[in-house]
Amino acid sequence: MQIELSEILTCPDCRSPQGLIVLVDELDDEGRVRDGDLGCSRCQRRYPIRDGVVDLLGGGGSGEPERVAEGDGGRPSPRELAAEIGGLLDLRSASGPVVLGHGLAPAAGPLAGLLEGVSLLALAEEAGDGAADSWTLVLAPAGRLPLLPGKAEGVALWKPGAGALEDARRALSPGGRLALLRPDEDARRDLEGSGLEVLASEERAAVARRSG
Ligand SMILES: [Zn+2]
Repeated sequence: MQIELSEILTCPDCRSPQGLIVLVDELDDEGRVRDGDLGCSRCQRRYPIRDGVVDLLGGGGSGEPERVAEGDGGRPSPRELAAEIGGLLDLRSASGPVVLGHGLAPAAGPLAGLLEGVSLLALAEEAGDGAADSWTLVLAPAGRLPLLPGKAEGVALWKPGAGALEDARRALSPGGRLALLRPDEDARRDLEGSGLEVLASEERAAVARRSG
């Protein structure tokens, strides 16, 4: 785990505004946390970091495999997804944390290749084979995003429900962008009413920016 990502994550259980504290057992050669814990100072829960993967599931989770790109429009490859996300979020000058919601973890590797020097985290319900050094996998329950408000430069969501969309809106820093991939009508309507500046809204994707 890139250590600065502890500044964007919060406790999925109590959603503490104080976020999580990193307790390092072992760093790798690049200064990333290989083993340790994230601790919540409010509810005292501890979440393990093992082999660089952050586990916020707390033993929960559905255990279902990561689902990507079902239904209309076929299944984009991870590389296609990464290019699409990179374009929507306009991350050429990004430096701050970028978050991929559930279902988009397969795109994290190729996206990290497009973005140098950006802290990239991807949420998923199971580890799969995705984890790599260039980005951080965070295991977390689907449906909500365990993110602190105002810290993310970009958030991309796959077919988002209302809870994830609201969490993502709150997580954006000023100027930050939110991309919705394959949004349904409800998601597009929620985006219109979110207070964000909607830059584009279509069936394939919608993108909005937090102003000021
Ligand atoms: Zn907590």
